Amino acid sequence: MQLSFYDFPQFLEGSVWLTGAGPGDPGLLTLHAVRALQQADVIVYDALVDKRILEFAKPEAQIEYAGKRGGKPSPKQRDISLKLIELAKSGKRVLRLKGGDPFVFGRGGEEALMLVEANVPFRIIPGITAGIGGLAYAGIPATHRGINQTVTFLTGHDQNGVAPDQIDWDALAKSSPVIVMYMAMKHLGSISEKLIAGGRKAHEPVAIVCNASLPTQSVSETTLGSCAFDAQRLKLVPPALVVLGDVVRLRAGLDWLGLSKGRELSPNPLGDTIEQLAQ
Ligand code: SAH
Repeated sequence: MQLSFYDFPQFLEGSVWLTGAGPGDPGLLTLHAVRALQQADVIVYDALVDKRILEFAKPEAQIEYAGKRGGKPSPKQRDISLKLIELAKSGKRVLRLKGGDPFVFGRGGEEALMLVEANVPFRIIPGITAGIGGLAYAGIPATHRGINQTVTFLTGHDQNGVAPDQIDWDALAKSSPVIVMYMAMKHLGSISEKLIAGGRKAHEPVAIVCNASLPTQSVSETTLGSCAFDAQRLKLVPPALVVLGDVVRLRAGLDWLGLSKGRELSPNPLGDTIEQLAQ
């Protein structure tokens, strides 16, 4: 790749680059991520990293899988960090590749802090997080003027793999018009009950986006009251994002992937007048 007009940072031997790989589509990698892939001596990647992304690696690179099962507390987390340290100390350029953004529900902070403790130089390369980029592939904006001025990202699992107790569900239900949920499939029933108990309407729109940005992407539109039942009925499996709020209605106008497969889009999915849209 000829990009000589820009002075890219050098991937130094003995350092770790903690890098986000985006939600799946290799085209959503950053230039820093692609250059890191091309230079790395060792790549330690997670379960959600699409295999096509590893094709950017140089042929002699050592490629190691460090996948974990979603939600479960991982006894291996410490081992992964120790491995990164060991590889860096042996003089390798170590690329730690994580799905989405390494600092969004990705334990990137934990790994980086262990590098700090071990005096290993590192760099963080942000990635497109699934809760924003994945939604965009479903034609759902995370914010839309007139609908929401705040958006909340939450994880449906806490450290112990249960629906997070630390969340003040009542406050959340009242304060955040749009809620984007990661790792929420397992506890969707109890999460939706808590939000309805906090005052959200059962008929409020929800979309469940599975395998966002991948060729296997599926988007199911449902409601808060029915989403857990529908997820089961449709046998939806992770990785999936669950998004709650009126932004879901915009999909009728913004499903650009659907458009390329023949779906007819409405320029007016919210029923606004042309004047309102132009404001
Ligand atoms: N660091 C990642 C999130 C890791 S947590 C990021 O920034 O995106 C793993 C969760 O992310 C999954 O359970 C799912 O909720 C979500 N996720 C990641 N990739 C996804 C994808 N391609 N489609 C749908 N959800 C995805």
